Amino acid sequence: MNDNTMHIEKSRSLWNGRSTTFCGLTIPKPEKVWFPSLSGRPTCAACVANGGK
Ligand SMILES: [Zn+2]
Repeated sequence: MNDNTMHIEKSRSLWNGRSTTFCGLTIPKPEKVWFPSLSGRPTCAACVANGGK
């Protein structure tokens, strides 16, 4: 994963805490998912293409 790219969270599992991003990644530790509104880092293009913003 490119640490400089922010992924957009699509959903989060309530039973295991895993986060799913719009580009299809499953991230066990949701704190590693970045959101465009939080910084000036580039947003994952795949996340945007799949419905993020
Ligand atoms: Zn992504």
